[in-house]
Amino acid sequence: VSDGRDLLGQLRVEPGSPAGLKRRDTGARLGAANKAAGLERLDELVRRLGILHNRLAAEATRAVLLVLQGMDASGKDGTIRNVLTGINPQGCRVVSFREPTSSEAAHDYLWRVHAVCPARGEIAIFTRSHYEDVVAVRVRGLEPEEVWRRRYEHIRSFERMLTDEGTTVVKVFLHLSEDVQRTRLRERLENPEKRWKLRVADLDDRRHFEEYAAAYEDAIRETSTQAAPWYVVPADHNWVRNLAVGEILVATLERLDPRLPAPDPGLEGLEVS
Ligand code: ATP
Ligand code: MG
Repeated sequence: VSDGRDLLGQLRVEPGSPAGLKRRDTGARLGAANKAAGLERLDELVRRLGILHNRLAAEATRAVLLVLQGMDASGKDGTIRNVLTGINPQGCRVVSFREPTSSEAAHDYLWRVHAVCPARGEIAIFTRSHYEDVVAVRVRGLEPEEVWRRRYEHIRSFERMLTDEGTTVVKVFLHLSEDVQRTRLRERLENPEKRWKLRVADLDDRRHFEEYAAAYEDAIRETSTQAAPWYVVPADHNWVRNLAVGEILVATLERLDPRLPAPDPGLEGLEVS
């Protein structure tokens, strides 16, 4: 990968523009010469992330929220495993959003989300998020259109509020092809180590692949803002996906440029006996 910034521009959905999921290549390699070069670059990014996260935690004034969305088997878990390995688990929080429990469902849909947003100095990663409330809810017909449609506006305002108050919000859609999803779901069905991950409902969702894609297309266009942009990451190749998310996170943290607190002035000239 020649230039991280270039790459980010390519993946970012400009505010008001279509996500363009149909024209974006899920199997893209993003200019990486080959997998070995990609993995080498990822190593560097992982190291860099560890350093930047340490500074973010020490500074303790700002936070980062990474939202990971994608179809089943798009690799949300794999991304976390491979990209966040260099990060101190203290100061990092991963939250998976499932179907709302009865107590969650008794509140508005942002209630459970806001409660687990990162504190100052933290990075939080959401696997699935409030975007399920405009995607899954829409495709499965859990709420009528008038209900989910007005949520775009809530979400823009909510994320704007988080940003204004010191949380940088980055949203990544892991863009997987229908064919690669088939292969991965078959593998889940056949491999006893993976079978637990598959639910009957997932096969149901797969039958609505096109509708999910259309719902994502709309949700991304409606909510990619200057404050909280969406990035569409090609997810057919795991290593490309990891590399892209690594570049996005490192660039985001570098832009924040977190500063270590000044050392205790009394330390000047002291030695450890
Ligand atoms: P993987 O991609 O590895 O299968 P996953 O994110 O699908 O992981 P699961 O526990 O298998 O994790 O599935 C969570 C399920 O919860 C998804 O089907 C998702 O659509 C659903 N879900 C999450 N939030 C909501 C919501 N607000 N309303 C309805 N369904 C939701
Ligand atoms: Mg699942």
